[in-house]
Amino acid sequence: MISENPAATPAHNADNRRHVVVIGSGFGGLFSAKTLKRAGVDVTLIARTTHHLFQPLLYQVATGILSGGEVAPTTRGILRRQQNVKVLLGDVTNINLARSSITSSAADLSTVPPFDSLIVAAGAQQSYFGNDRFAEHAPGMKTIDDALEVRGRILRVFEHAELTSDPAERARLLTFVVVGAGPTGVELAGQIAELAQRTLPGSFRHIAPQDARIVLLDAAPAVLPPFDLKLRDKAATTLRRLGVEIQLDTMVTDVDEDGLVVRDKDSAGRRIESRCKVWSAGVAASPLGQQLATQSGATLDRAGRVRVNPDLTLPGYSDVFVIGDLMSLDRLPGVAQVAIQGGRYVGKLIKTEAAARRAGHVRPERLPFNYHDKGSMATVARFSAVAQFGRIRLGGGPAWLIWLAVHLAYLVGYKSRISAALSWLLTFSGSSRPHLTITRQQVIARTALDHLHTLEGSDTPPTHSTSHPANRPG
Ligand SMILES: Cc1cc2nc3c(=O)[nH]c(=O)nc-3n(C[C@H](O)[C@H](O)[C@H](O)COP(=O)(O)OP(=O)(O)OC[C@H]3O[C@@H](n4cnc5c(N)ncnc54)[C@H](O)[C@@H]3O)c2cc1C
Repeated sequence: MISENPAATPAHNADNRRHVVVIGSGFGGLFSAKTLKRAGVDVTLIARTTHHLFQPLLYQVATGILSGGEVAPTTRGILRRQQNVKVLLGDVTNINLARSSITSSAADLSTVPPFDSLIVAAGAQQSYFGNDRFAEHAPGMKTIDDALEVRGRILRVFEHAELTSDPAERARLLTFVVVGAGPTGVELAGQIAELAQRTLPGSFRHIAPQDARIVLLDAAPAVLPPFDLKLRDKAATTLRRLGVEIQLDTMVTDVDEDGLVVRDKDSAGRRIESRCKVWSAGVAASPLGQQLATQSGATLDRAGRVRVNPDLTLPGYSDVFVIGDLMSLDRLPGVAQVAIQGGRYVGKLIKTEAAARRAGHVRPERLPFNYHDKGSMATVARFSAVAQFGRIRLGGGPAWLIWLAVHLAYLVGYKSRISAALSWLLTFSGSSRPHLTITRQQVIARTALDHLHTLEGSDTPPTHSTSHPANRPG
């Protein structure tokens, strides 16, 4: 039964302080809440997870380099010293613009905080381009649950291959298919290859993990499409050297437990036998975008992202901001820096306007959000990455060192940084990996929960969702 939880409803406008509600604890939500420190406003941050997730390192959780905790410290812990912030667990199911309130629920309790300002930073979800049934056999890479499931699936097929005496089944078990050759797909394929070639050899008696076949495929004609041509070629060469088979212009038309059906350019379908598939091919904006659009008349782009004004507000609502992966503005990509800078911009704006209001001044004129592109990076393998900053193009070791420094700097909290640095030292200086533990529950939990919800006719949305193709290939 859902009942309202009065204790969780914030004290609204105590001491005439304005109340800011933030939806999401990703880069956008967290950075806006942190910027509101000492802003003279009360903040309620609501998210459906209890952690802040550093998504760019999820592939390292999936391949046993980092633990979940190293890339996902608790939001409550990060904000514990910021007295003006209250952190609440909740799945936001409704935004009511006319009443300036939202509804979120968790543990059968419903919370309906009113807001003076709302920051919607609900991000995006995995997209299967309308084929949600693929999700059962090809998990995505958007959450800690996803990464742990993928880790479980990768390591489990090696175990099963050791047990079987059927050569065809062994080949099927040792064929890994990563769908989507964007940064996540490239990083994941490279790390599965290193796992098979550097970490696991010597641990099995009947199979040679080095025999694993790793296929990276994409419907697009290139790997790492956002990158410069030279860097794309460099990444593809490094992957091939690691033994990764790259299949481009290849569209997935079906996925089942034992493999995939793909269609190449100008050819009929063919089948790839594979027990372990991972989907990193596309993202779709949070369904909250649709709610905002319906109520405000704002339009959505192809990826379901809300088209916002230059000050990141929803058209017609000067106190409702949409940031990060959920916003569409000037064709900005769905990357961490857009969310971080958007969060800081909105936080500063609310802070400045709150100060002006307290001083009895008129609201200062808003300057438009101005995004500063700090460049892009992707790791391909140990000691090898590609990076582009302005006109600078770097590949191999130098790019990898920069990648390492930047990711350490952006991990939230010094304990996460120290712990990640130690895990990297262990992984990259030798052949072992510190986080190869898997559990049966990790592998079956997502599909089991989805089946349960179907049986119960539950309103709770399944862990994957319908989609629109997005600009970021994973
Ligand atoms: C695997 C992967 C690798 C990536 N690699 C890179 C990279 O190398 N470089 C880069 O710049 N970017 C990368 N990105 C993109 C980057 O992570 C995103 O652009 C960034 O996280 C967007 O931040 P956000 O705050 O908008 O959304 P998110 O970080 O996705 O956060 C969304 C938040 O909203 C919460 N939420 C969603 N719906 C609800 C709801 N209904 N109710 C309550 N809470 C809700 C979620 O729990 C989460 O806390 C990667 C993304 C992925 C998935």
